[in-house]
Order: sequence, then structure tokens, then C-alpha cells
Amino acid sequence: MADCLFSKLIVGEIPSKKIYEDEKVFVFQDINPQAPVHFLIIPREHIVGLKEATAKDAEILGYCQLVAAKLGREYKIEEGYRTVYNVGPKSGQSVFHLHLHLIGGRDMKWPPG
Ligand code: 5GP
Repeated sequence: MADCLFSKLIVGEIPSKKIYEDEKVFVFQDINPQAPVHFLIIPREHIVGLKEATAKDAEILGYCQLVAAKLGREYKIEEGYRTVYNVGPKSGQSVFHLHLHLIGGRDMKWPPG
């Protein structure tokens, strides 16, 4: 996807602080972190967002959650973290390449704003 910010980030065209990568996903530090740990887990394949995902994306959706759990262990935030997809403009979704937020390392309130 030529015009996609996160696709450019995956190939290094735009710099980011890489946390983890493998053949399926790329994980980097959010530029505007909302907690001590705030990573974005993105599939290498361009998927616009959760509501645009289809049955063929089921495996990568689950895989992103498992990568979040692995990083939650590694970064020692298992006392409490969130994995979040913002979906659609009213949720605050601002980038249209599927990204799972991993947020933790501080106390959190419920419901979120
Ligand atoms: P959304 O609001 O779409 O759920 O999340 C997009 C996230 O991407 C935001 O938390 C925002 O701070 C982050 N972000 C936007 N542009 C960049 C960028 O160029 N680099 C990094 N590392 N994060 C970005």
C-alpha cells in the first residue's frame, strides 16, 4: 500500500523504534505513548482495520493477540495491560492499517474514555 504510513514504517521508509518483528508482524513503540508500555502490533500484510477484516484474516488477528501476550510477559506488565483495536472514526482510529495497541505498566480505569 503505497500511501499507508504503517506500511512505510514496516519497510523502514519512516523510522520507528522497533520492539519485535517476525515473518507475520512488526511491532514498534507508539510515537505518543499513553502508558509506560505502548506498542503497536501490525500485520505485515495491509488490512485496513478490524471491520474490514474477513475470514482469511482470522489467523493473523489471533496471532497479533498472542504476540501481545508474549510481549506482556517479556515487558513484565502482566499485572494489567490492555490490547485494543480502535475501530472507525468515533473510536479515534486515525491510521488505516490494522494495529493492535498493547498498553500497560500503569493503573488503568474502566470504562475507558
Ligand atoms: P489509532 O488512533 O489509529 O488507533 O492509533 C494510531 C496510533 O499510531 C496512535 O496511537 C499514534 O500515536 C500512532 N502513530 C501515528 N503516527 C505514528 C508514527 O509515525 N510513528 C509511530 N511510532 N506511531 C505513530
